[in-house]
Amino acid sequence: KTMTTAEIREDFLKFFEGKGCKLYPSSSLVPDDPSLLLTNAGMNQFKEYYQGSKTMREIGATSCQKCLRTNDIDNIGDSRHLSFFEMLGNFSFGGYSKADAIAWAFEFMTSPEHLGLPVDRLYMTVFEDDDEAIELWHAQGVGYDHISRLGAEDNFWAAGPTGPCGPCSEIYFDQGPEFEGEKPGDDGDRFLEFWNLVFTQYDRQEDGSLPDLPHRNIDTGMGLERMAAIMQHEGSNYEGDVLRTLISLGENLAHVAYHADERTDKSLRIVADHSRAVTFMIADGILPSNEGRGYVLRRLLRRAVYHGRLMGIEGAFLTTYAHEVTRLMGDVYPELTENAALVDGIVSAEEGRFTQTLDAGEESLKAELSALGEGEALPGATAFKLHDTYGFPIDLTREIAEAAGHGVDMAAFDAAMDEQRERARRSANRDAWGSFNDVWTQLNDRLPETEFKGYERDRARGCK
Ligand code: ATP
Ligand code: MG
Ligand code: MG
Ligand code: MG
Repeated sequence: KTMTTAEIREDFLKFFEGKGCKLYPSSSLVPDDPSLLLTNAGMNQFKEYYQGSKTMREIGATSCQKCLRTNDIDNIGDSRHLSFFEMLGNFSFGGYSKADAIAWAFEFMTSPEHLGLPVDRLYMTVFEDDDEAIELWHAQGVGYDHISRLGAEDNFWAAGPTGPCGPCSEIYFDQGPEFEGEKPGDDGDRFLEFWNLVFTQYDRQEDGSLPDLPHRNIDTGMGLERMAAIMQHEGSNYEGDVLRTLISLGENLAHVAYHADERTDKSLRIVADHSRAVTFMIADGILPSNEGRGYVLRRLLRRAVYHGRLMGIEGAFLTTYAHEVTRLMGDVYPELTENAALVDGIVSAEEGRFTQTLDAGEESLKAELSALGEGEALPGATAFKLHDTYGFPIDLTREIAEAAGHGVDMAAFDAAMDEQRERARRSANRDAWGSFNDVWTQLNDRLPETEFKGYERDRARGCK
C-alpha cells in the first residue's frame, strides 16, 4: 500500500476524531510557554491540560503539529532527522486509557483501511519495568519477540527538566536486512522509530521527586515525514513526497543529481530541510537576530545559503525554495500564504547580507591561492584567518582550494580552531546551541545587530 503525506495526515486525524478526540490545529512554532524556545512536540500546546489547570470536555485531542528541534541540527542530513517536521498526535487527559491508546495505535497501523503495515515488520519497545505495556501489545497480537525493554534514556519521556513525564512505548518499522542495524533503539537505520506513545503520569519537581499528575495522560507523537517514507517504501525522510520535491528543486538549481555523490546529497538535504524550517519560522513571526529563536533562524538560513553555494548554486536562491515550500504546504498551513511577502523580504535581505560576507571571503581566498606554488597546500593559518575574519566556512575553503588544485593544511587549521574554542570557553558560555559546534559560532559575534529584536532570550530544553 502507498499513501501520500497528505493522505496519511488526513487519515490519522480522521481516525482519532472517529474515536472521540477533538481536532486541534497546530499551534505556532513560537510556544506559548516561556520555558520553551521553540515548539518541539505535539503535546506543548496541551501542557495545562496535563497539569490539570485546564480540562477538556471531549475524551481526548488529536493534532498535526509543526515542530522544530535544535537538538537534532547536528544530525540533519542523516536519513531520519529534520530540524522542522510535522508530528501527528493523539492525546488524553484522563479521558481514554493506556489500553485504548495501544489498541487504537495498533488498529491504525495494521488495518488495511488505514496504514495496513504488516505486523511482522513492527517492533515495540517499552520502559524496562512496564509489564503492563508488554501485555497490552501482546494482547493485540504482537509476539513477545517483537517487544523489548529499554532504560530511562530511551523510554522515559520528559517535556523538560521539570513537568509532565512518564514511561513510553516506541514503535519501530523494520526496513529490512539491506539496512544496517541490529535491534530497535540502536543507531542503525534498519529499525526506524516512527511513533512514541507516552503514558504521562508524573509531574517532576525541581527536587527530582515524581508526584502523580492529577490524572493519567496519553501523549503520542508520530513523525509524518518518517511515516511518509515508510508508506512510500523509501528508506529516508528525504525520500517522502514533500522533501523529495525540494531536493529536486536543488538538483535543478545546482545542476546536480541526487544519489550521485555523498557530499552533494548532504547539501541537497540540508538546503531542503533548512529552507523549509526557515519558511515556517518566518511565517510564524520569527525574525533573524543574534539571540534566542531569531538566532536559530539566522543560523539555519545561513547554513542553507552556504550549502547551496557548496553544491554549486549561483546567485540568490532561497526565496525559490520558500515559494516551493508554500506551494507544497500552503493549503494545510495557510500562514505560509498569508505571510508570503514577509517571508520573501526577510529571506532575501538576510541571504543578500550573508552572500556579501561570503563574496568578500572568496575574493580573499582566491588571491591567497594564486600566490601558492603548484600543488602547495593552503596554510592552516590562512584558512583560519578566512574563517575568523569573514566567517568563511572551512568546507567552502576546501572546496574552492581543491578546485584550484590545492589542499588545505587541516591539522594546522584544527589546531587554530581548538585554540579559539578554548578561548571562547574561558570567556563565555552563552547560547542554547552549545551542541551545534559549527562554523557560525564565531561569525555570529562579529555581525552587526539587526534592526529586529523582540524575543526575550530563553533556554532551549532538551527533548528525547
Ligand atoms: P529519534 O530517536 O529518532 O531522535 P526521538 O525519540 O527523539 O526520535 P520523539 O521525541 O519520541 O523522537 O518524537 C516522536 C516522533 O517524532 C518520533 O518517533 C519521530 O517519528 C518523530 N521525530 C522526532 N524527531 C524528529 C526529527 N528530528 N525529524 C523527523 N521526525 C522526528
Ligand atoms: Mg528515539
Ligand atoms: Mg522517541
Ligand atoms: Mg531525537
